[in-house]
Amino acid sequence: MSDLRIDGDRLWRTLMDLATIGATPKGGLCRLALTDLDKEGRDLFVRWCEEAGCTVTVDEVGNIFARRPGRNPDRPAVCMGSHLDTQPTGGRFDGIYGVLAGLEVIRSFNDQGIETDAPIDLIVWTNEEGARFSPPMLGSGVAMGVFTLDHVLDIRDTDGVRLGDELARIGYKGEVPVTGHAMGAYFEAHIEQGPVLEAEDVEIGVVTGAQGQRWYEATVTGRESHAGPTPMRLRRDALAGAAVMMEAVEAIALEVGGDACSTIGRVQVHPDSRNVIPGRVWFTIDLRNPDPDALARMDAMLRERLAAIADKRDLTLELTDFWAFPTTPFAPELVGHVRRSVERRGLSHRDIVSGAGHDAVYVARKVPTAMIFIPCENGLSHNEAENIKPEHAASGCAVLADAVLATAG
Ligand SMILES: [Zn+2]
Repeated sequence: MSDLRIDGDRLWRTLMDLATIGATPKGGLCRLALTDLDKEGRDLFVRWCEEAGCTVTVDEVGNIFARRPGRNPDRPAVCMGSHLDTQPTGGRFDGIYGVLAGLEVIRSFNDQGIETDAPIDLIVWTNEEGARFSPPMLGSGVAMGVFTLDHVLDIRDTDGVRLGDELARIGYKGEVPVTGHAMGAYFEAHIEQGPVLEAEDVEIGVVTGAQGQRWYEATVTGRESHAGPTPMRLRRDALAGAAVMMEAVEAIALEVGGDACSTIGRVQVHPDSRNVIPGRVWFTIDLRNPDPDALARMDAMLRERLAAIADKRDLTLELTDFWAFPTTPFAPELVGHVRRSVERRGLSHRDIVSGAGHDAVYVARKVPTAMIFIPCENGLSHNEAENIKPEHAASGCAVLADAVLATAG
């Protein structure tokens, strides 16, 4: 057992206090990025950090850094963080848990008079959800050089409002340069957002990395014709062909097995009329795998099988790459700190890969990174019913504290 303690009740109270800002009638949260409610949440967070003795700075894209100094100011900071923005019908814990678990780590270190060698930074990344300003993970993305600052400041929401203008309006257009912040390590605690930990009755997920993803768009073209007078043998039915392709897409993940996933999320049928044989079908494909070789194999299977189906049915297939995200392994040393903490504390655990995008996934491109997952009820997230158990929140926070202390010295 580690003798480092965190205050689980205080963590839970803090989570519930922040959950009053933007609360929805169904028990969730609507706190979209850079709205008045986001400002209110940020302001409260900043006040809490200052009360805990931290110095708060804000960078050019509104990322917040709360610093607890270390003995050695020249060491790059050991960082914790996540996000405070939510989906329109979001939950109380997605992102917020990681930020407030970090705050509880700092408060606990204060209570126990723990000094660290490296400074500790608690980070709130701007617009992680991508609900108001798309794409997601913009704050961490700019900080890690995935997007340029000017590009991101110019992104508009659906009402045409500029991200940069909203940052200034709510008082979070900071002065600190967005790139080059000296981060020595980054830990993000997060709810799993999937059902695995709960189903296996496991308290902590030791996250070893993030799945690689490949997104495609497929357009299948046949020939529109009348649903009555056109005999089956003379048809070039784009939808019938696309349906077989969709079955093939599902089969790819089932055959590859392990953590492979394949999903078709959007379909458009043309002309979308009940008595016309569809001439054109457009659909999206999302392939994921934590193993880059297996993902490459899935990509090859997809291309080969869809082309064969199109060929057999005299259809034209156009398969385009829409977006790709490489497999991201986390830093073995930091993952090791997480694993040792879980073992010392006697918590049930398993290794897991993140199937979702997180700020940590961008941060991991430049900074040694690890994540800690805790179970969520029914695996639900991006849902007002999102829920976690207070004891899991406390366990994840204690593991975060151990891992940060082991890294910061
Ligand atoms: Zn999140």
